[in-house]
Amino acid sequence: MLASRTLEENLRQAAGQRAFIDLVELRADHLLPSEAAAAASFPAKVGLPCILTVRRKIDGGVFDGTETERLALLGKLVGAGFAGMDVEEDLQAPDLDAAARAAGVAVIRSFHDFSGVPSDLAQRLERLPRNASEIAKAAVTPRTSAQLADLLAAAAAGGGGRGAPRVILGMGDLGFPTRVLAARLGSAWSYTSPTSQGVAPGQVTPGTLVDLYRFRSLRPDTPVFGVVGNPVMHSRSPLIHNRGYAALGIDAVYLPFQVPDLEAFWATADLLAIRGLSVTVPHKTAVLGPRVSGDEDVRVIGACNTLFRSAAPGPWSGANTDMEGFLSPLREVFDGRLPGGLRAVVIGAGGAARSVVAALTAAGARVLVCNRTVEHARGLAEAFGAEYAGLDADGLRAAGKGADLIVQTTSVGMAPRQDLDPASALRFRGNELIYELIYAPAETPLVRRALAAGCRVVYGWQMLLAQARRQFLLFTGREYPRDLMDALATPSD
Ligand code: NAP
Repeated sequence: MLASRTLEENLRQAAGQRAFIDLVELRADHLLPSEAAAAASFPAKVGLPCILTVRRKIDGGVFDGTETERLALLGKLVGAGFAGMDVEEDLQAPDLDAAARAAGVAVIRSFHDFSGVPSDLAQRLERLPRNASEIAKAAVTPRTSAQLADLLAAAAAGGGGRGAPRVILGMGDLGFPTRVLAARLGSAWSYTSPTSQGVAPGQVTPGTLVDLYRFRSLRPDTPVFGVVGNPVMHSRSPLIHNRGYAALGIDAVYLPFQVPDLEAFWATADLLAIRGLSVTVPHKTAVLGPRVSGDEDVRVIGACNTLFRSAAPGPWSGANTDMEGFLSPLREVFDGRLPGGLRAVVIGAGGAARSVVAALTAAGARVLVCNRTVEHARGLAEAFGAEYAGLDADGLRAAGKGADLIVQTTSVGMAPRQDLDPASALRFRGNELIYELIYAPAETPLVRRALAAGCRVVYGWQMLLAQARRQFLLFTGREYPRDLMDALATPSD
């Protein structure tokens, strides 16, 4: 989608994305008036099939003139070599339709819903094309997981008219998977933005769609995996898993599913026949229920970060790879095995701390849990035979006494608190090992302080990779490529 103010800038952006795109849409409503008047030259210059759109404000566009002026612009440009023209569902302009027909321009009959997903989406899609040659397009905005399922069900119902090309997509974070799964939804194309700020909500760059999500190789039955969380769009798991599929030539795609209401998400999982899911904040405990049979780690930790099943629909097996993901980089530091009697301080007492304390106590470490809310520290410590303290001067004094390992598990140090250190009063001796669970940013203030004191550091990114590696095996039955793991292990923001 090209939405710059000038034709020259649009041409520059199209040229920059040439390797990833097969089709462009010129959003002439974004052009300066003088540029819009000269847009007839654009199709020949851009050298790709080009859709002409002059979007009204009520449909998410920015066209400033009257409806008469908009129709005049469309009428002036329609015969200028455009391959398609996108016009709205309710537009009554027989002369324009006839001009498009005469010029061999495909009419894309579209409707937009920025507030939700209409309950009669399938029927509306069916009614959209006014004749067999028109292409139906629906862009809607799922606000709940139930609405995402409605959108997928409408796509499966095959609306849009007698096998003709059509486009159906969900805008916003919840709708993002539908932009990747165009082949599965029966969409003839997907929309991207040449800049990282999408023109419409949820758009990504062509490179992200093609390189990261392997858009061009996805088929209607490509197996779907993903991560459920809220928020989740920042997750690095799609990068890790999709790069793994690409390296091993596995036909699969891994997507972020923004899930505000977990109960309503299961319909989506079944509609997409999802066989494997990573589970992240805030669903790791809520996910446990009659649908999921958890393994021993899930029972011990009381939280589940991995769901997989042999057939969809069907019941899920639950695993927790955080525990092994935490231990694996530690073992590497200690040449395979944690030393007996290791003295560990765990800062924080939330969900991640639970996996950490379970793993450390099971490995024979002596653990002190320090947390802002002492009650939370006490509850966690008592569940695993550890000690506890507050995250205040007294607690940190106790923590500083001869710890071999300090594990930072709070969210302090990541946005919006990326400048803060949750234990700034804790003095490092320089010979203790610091394990920071936060992986974005790669270096938190606490890590910088630890490095300055001469401490060795294990990074959150290493844990994320290690737990993803086990998930990858559970999802695909294949080992994650070692060289890719090493390449990804270099900390980066
Ligand atoms: P959580 O369950 O919400 O726990 C948050 C913890 O942070 C609690 O102990 C909380 O203390 C503490 N906290 C929050 N704000 C604080 C503040 N202003 N000052 C001091 N303490 C504060 O979250 P979680 O799931 O455990 O995740 C925590 C972090 O671990 C996140 O940054 C997450 O990205 C990271 N993580 C990384 C990996 C990995 O693979 N690297 C895996 C899992 C999690 P109270 O009890 O007092 O509220």
